[in-house]
Amino acid sequence: MLCYAPAEDSSLEPRAALTPATAEALKKLGLDVRFAPCLGLASGYPDAAYVAAGATPAPVHATALVEADLVLRVRKPPLADVACLKPGSVQIGFLDPFNESDLLARLAAAGVAAASLEMIPRTTLAQKMDALSSQASLAGYAAVLQAAARLRRALPMMMTPAGTILPARVFILGAGVAGLQAIATARRLGARVEAFDTRPVVEEQVKSLGAKFVKIDLGGDTGQTAGGYAQALTPEQVARQQAGMAKVCAQSDIVITTAKVFGRRAPRLVTGEMLAGMQPGSVVVDLAIDSGGNVEGSVPGRDVVTPNGVTILGASNLEGTVAYHATQVLAANLLAWVTHFWNAETKTLRLNPDDEILKGCLLTRDGAIVHPQFAAKSA
Ligand code: NAD
Repeated sequence: MLCYAPAEDSSLEPRAALTPATAEALKKLGLDVRFAPCLGLASGYPDAAYVAAGATPAPVHATALVEADLVLRVRKPPLADVACLKPGSVQIGFLDPFNESDLLARLAAAGVAAASLEMIPRTTLAQKMDALSSQASLAGYAAVLQAAARLRRALPMMMTPAGTILPARVFILGAGVAGLQAIATARRLGARVEAFDTRPVVEEQVKSLGAKFVKIDLGGDTGQTAGGYAQALTPEQVARQQAGMAKVCAQSDIVITTAKVFGRRAPRLVTGEMLAGMQPGSVVVDLAIDSGGNVEGSVPGRDVVTPNGVTILGASNLEGTVAYHATQVLAANLLAWVTHFWNAETKTLRLNPDDEILKGCLLTRDGAIVHPQFAAKSA
């Protein structure tokens, strides 16, 4: 089988879907590995390292696409690429299926088997290929560093002969994978950290990291779905949450929001009024920006300063600020996916339709949209 890792759009994406280490592992499985020249330049993996690992540079993108049996990407393919894909080939990456019905239809029409990293079930068996987690964890870490770099204050408490510097106060909204890593990072830097999540199960995890769990009575059930994701709140619950958070935000030097509801627009939780109540110089990082944003006025990829001097960072792709490691773990997730479906005897991918992981993440196959969540939409 011929595997190809094309270059990503460099204006959007410094990460890559292949590292020299995963190229070597794929070769060992029995794949022939090709990569776009300069694939790992922005993430710190030189072409020579891929070549030393046994991969071959593919100078003509269209030719490599037409010939590839397996295409590994970070992001969705441009529509122009879809026309070049080999029928029966396997495509995998973050395909953004909730927002890309046209792309899904075209992938189906191209006759390819397209799998989406976002849809891989969050189960123990699939942990090694859980790219949402591997990337969210780095984004949570990077969010704290980005906020700290913009804050005019230090994070840790310092007792000096010239007086005591008090620890910065950090509030993390949403304590999933990104939020928990943000808590751990802010704690390591010496900040005083508080956090809130609608899933009650998270309280113990927050406390075990040395942060305080903010109690807000939302009234009614706020449990989690069978997949472990948060449920959407009612408008009344959102209003109660906002009222409960306003004081915490006002006292915080840094607010990092990571609140998401899988497959839906992120809830708008930090209002203009709450921002107006914050101290000048405070920093808000909106990690949910790519799914609509938790913070009023946040703009993707930009810093916005409110009239009262609060900086809002619309944090698109913060994992890309640590692209070397984001690429390392993302490529390892992709390798784990390939390895799971690899048939060592025939040296091909065996996509068994009864496999639970495949059922979760396969969007198109044999000319049709096969994932029930999206097939219904396109019908
Ligand atoms: P996510 O990115 O979908 O959401 C981030 C966080 O926002 C979640 O903790 C969610 O509860 C929270 N949230 C949603 N609405 C909120 C609101 N109104 N206010 C405050 N917080 C709100 O979640 P994720 O980080 O991808 O994690 C999803 C789940 O998957 C978690 O339960 C996690 O533990 C689980 N998980 C399991 C495995 C595994 O078992 N292998 C691996 C990774 C994650």
